[in-house]
Amino acid sequence: VMDFLGKEYRSVLGLNVVNVPGCSPVGDNFTETIAAVLAFLQGIAPVPEFDELGRPAWLFSETVHQGCTRAGYYEEGTFAHQEGDRECLVEIGCWGPVVQCNITSRGAINHLGGCMNVGGACIGCTMPGFPDKFTPFHKAPPGSMVSSTMSRMTGSFIRPLRRLSQRDRNREVLWDQTGVVPSGWGASGSVTLVDRGMDFFYNRLRRRGAGGKTGQSG
Ligand code: SF4
Ligand code: SF4
Repeated sequence: VMDFLGKEYRSVLGLNVVNVPGCSPVGDNFTETIAAVLAFLQGIAPVPEFDELGRPAWLFSETVHQGCTRAGYYEEGTFAHQEGDRECLVEIGCWGPVVQCNITSRGAINHLGGCMNVGGACIGCTMPGFPDKFTPFHKAPPGSMVSSTMSRMTGSFIRPLRRLSQRDRNREVLWDQTGVVPSGWGASGSVTLVDRGMDFFYNRLRRRGAGGKTGQSG
């Protein structure tokens, strides 16, 4: 719209062009923006904040990636190989790290669904460069090669450490003391020497500088 109306355009109410981007825009983003403008014009709300391209700043200042439910997979360096996999979608064409969009928190309709929430890679439909700068779709963005390689490297080290800690946090202090996990659901039935050693050193680190007994679980 800005290409047609130009930067000098003002509406009868004196407003610049307001852009609520998307293909199509999420309905709640649209109505929320209109409500914010009308409330301001009625004098019952502060002036809404828009960015340099006329987008509602409170809705479009963060990238998809910053709110994505799959960001933890990205950070641990695990990536989807095909549609339907649960991991980060960057290697099958997700542009989320550089795309400003709130779909992950807002959802598509009634706060439900929306792109990577349901398994779809971001193709950048809220961005002025869409679609030309995002094609071919479903191909890994060139810039992701560096970051995903870095994530893989750090993730291969961090992941096993986290799984060890996770396994430990899944045990009660009492189970550590008795050496038995009384679960009928297939949990590992005993606490090994390695578990005890990990527990000891982890708890010393965890409590260092915080006072209390450094060698005790819990
Ligand atoms: S799926 Fe896309 S937005 Fe989500 S973590 Fe991966 S790269 Fe980021
Ligand atoms: S394709 Fe990307 S920009 Fe478009 S709605 Fe989905 S996450 Fe947002």
